[in-house]
Formats: sequence, C-alpha cells, structure tokens
Amino acid sequence: MNEKVRILYVDDENNNLVSFRSYFRKFYEVYTALNAKDALDILNTTEIPIIISDQRMPGTTGVEFLEQTIKEHPESIRIIITAQADIEMVIDSINRGQITKFIQKPWDWEKLSLTIENCVLQYNSKVEIKQTNRELAKANDELNKFVYSISHDLRSPLMSILGIVHLAKESDNKVDDRRYLEMIEECVSKLDLFIKNMIDYYKNSRGEEQRESINFNELGKNVFDVLKNQDPGMLFELEANQQSDFYGDSVRLQVILNNLVSNAIKYQNPQAKMRFVRLNITSDNNSAIISVSDNGIGISKEHQENIFKLFFRTDNSKDKEGTGIGLYIVKESVEKIGGSISVESTPMVGSKFEVIIPNKKENP
Ligand code: ADP
Repeated sequence: MNEKVRILYVDDENNNLVSFRSYFRKFYEVYTALNAKDALDILNTTEIPIIISDQRMPGTTGVEFLEQTIKEHPESIRIIITAQADIEMVIDSINRGQITKFIQKPWDWEKLSLTIENCVLQYNSKVEIKQTNRELAKANDELNKFVYSISHDLRSPLMSILGIVHLAKESDNKVDDRRYLEMIEECVSKLDLFIKNMIDYYKNSRGEEQRESINFNELGKNVFDVLKNQDPGMLFELEANQQSDFYGDSVRLQVILNNLVSNAIKYQNPQAKMRFVRLNITSDNNSAIISVSDNGIGISKEHQENIFKLFFRTDNSKDKEGTGIGLYIVKESVEKIGGSISVESTPMVGSKFEVIIPNKKENP
C-alpha cells in the first residue's frame, strides 16, 4: 500500500487544527502545531512535503516561520493561510518564504483539498527532477572518467601493439618473433579484459532487476569451477547455509561473486603458506549474507573506501592486470538489487568483502 503523504499545519487556533486534522487524516498523514517552535521541532525529525501555516500567529508570522524551513526542507511546498493578504505580505512571501500558494481564510474545504493535491504533485515532480539531476551528474562524471580511461587503458595497449609490430617487421630472428607475439598476446588480453568489464558495466546499468530462484550452493560451485583454473594451487572453500527459498537476480549475483573471487585470486600474497579464498553464504527468509575472504595482500585503511570508485587501483596492485572497474560494478550491482557491501582488510593479512542482499521472495 502507498504511504500517505505527510502534511504539517501550523495555526494558533486549536479549533482550526482539529477540524483540519479530522477532514484530511483519511488522505494524508497530518501533523499539527500551535506555534512555529513546535512546528520546527516536528520538522527537525520528519521530512514533510507540504507545510501550511497561518500568517497571523503570536511571536512570529507565517512567512517568517516558512522562511526558516527553506534551508532544511528545500523541496517542501509552502502554503500560507491568511484572512487578508496585503501587497507587502505577498512580496515578502514570494521573496523570502518561497511560498507557492495562498489560501483565503475561512477556506472552502474542496478548494483547499484540490490545492493540496496539486501541491503534492508539484512536490513529487520536484523530487523527481532532483533525483534525475543526481543521476545525470553521476552519468556525466562516469562518462568523463570513461573518456579518460579509454584514452589510457584502451589506447596504450594498442600503441604497444603498434610498436611491437614495427619491431617485428624489422626482425629476421625466429626467437624474437615468438617473443613479439607473446607481447602482443599480453596487450590483446589487456584490451579484452577492459572490454569485458565495460560490457558488465553496461549490462548492469541498463538491465532491469531480475527475480529468479537461487540455489547458493550451486551458484558458488559454478563461480569456483570457472575461476579455480586461474590458480590450481589455491584452496577454494565454499560454505552455503541456505535455510529457505531465496529469490534474487542470478546474473547480477554471478557478476558480484565473479569479481570478488577473481580479485581474491589476483591479489594473493605469494608469501602466505596456504593461499585461500573462502566463500561463505548464509541466507534465510529475509536476506542473504555473502562473504568472500582471502589471505592476500590486503588493502590499507586509507584506500578501503576508494576501491569502490570507478577506475581506482591501489599502487601495490599495478603489477597485476586490471582496470579498476570490477568493484565499481560490484557496488552498483549490489545497490541495484537493494543490498549493501562492506570491506574489512589488513595489509599482508587478508581481506573480507561482505555483501548483504534482500530475499525477493514476495513479488514487489
Ligand atoms: P582491478 O582489480 O581491475 O584493479 P577492482 O575494481 O576489482 O579493479 O579493484 C580495485 C582495487 O581494489 C584493486 O586494484 C586492488 O588494489 C584492490 N583490491 C580489490 N580486491 C582486493 C583483494 N581481494 N585484495 C587486495 N586488494 C584488492
């Protein structure tokens, strides 16, 4: 069921508050206050889309009170109720109070009702515009980073290939030729990795969230089966404790696990006696907690937040192939399915990534 929209009405006449509340409480979540101070107290703890105030109150005017609500509640729609509006007050309301509507006292209930409905629509579109702006700013930021990265991560292996081809053209030595081919192969796999990551990124940002039945044990096994050939000497431990049916987005879960497990393999500590990656999944009716731990090179505290940013790589990981896109995709995917991700890590001891996702058992 849709939540009721919250309205706050401030008036020093209690009778008005009582009749307002009884008329509107069926349609809205109504808050009332006898003075500006009580109203500000309510606004301190609650986000209220529609704020209505009487103009004449002891101590402060409605316009003054509404002016004080602008900073903390910029999206809220402000309405003033007044018996007489003179021109000075109208100017003040527009200039200082960002007031959208005037309502004449005594009011006509139907008109008031219609005005509030319109204001709710206006509030919703304000919030939508703000959200769209935020998304646009993020998309713009990502685009800038992509352009930068394409010029570097895509161009530099291509330039290397071109350089090697020039060398190979000059060479008449078979051993050298083989070495050149190997170097080209390395550059091509760098390009391929970058493109693969881009496709994952694109799939995640475009695709709607899916809802399928998940078997965590199978999912974990599949991920390990594909990745364990990358280091057969490493210990792969899987523990899945699934207590009930679980529904979620299996493609995104695979992307998340693939990235976390392949990082655990990639950033291992060569000095560790027994290198391991441990995948632990516990799920119930409400959620699943998935952790991927390793005893690899770890991540210093200062970088633990940055690793989820697009194209971020720590200095000590630069000798491994990578693009800095993986964990960004992981975080975006986790958020897209309504979950959260955190990391605990100690340099040269190991890292533990923990993902918590909701069970989408009920159809939304
Ligand atoms: P990439 O691996 O392509 O560099 P990611 O976005 O997957 O990109 O990871 C970002 C950075 O986070 C890596 O460059 C590495 O420095 C660090 N990192 C990620 N996972 C681990 C891990 N398991 N152990 C140590 N460092 C890690």
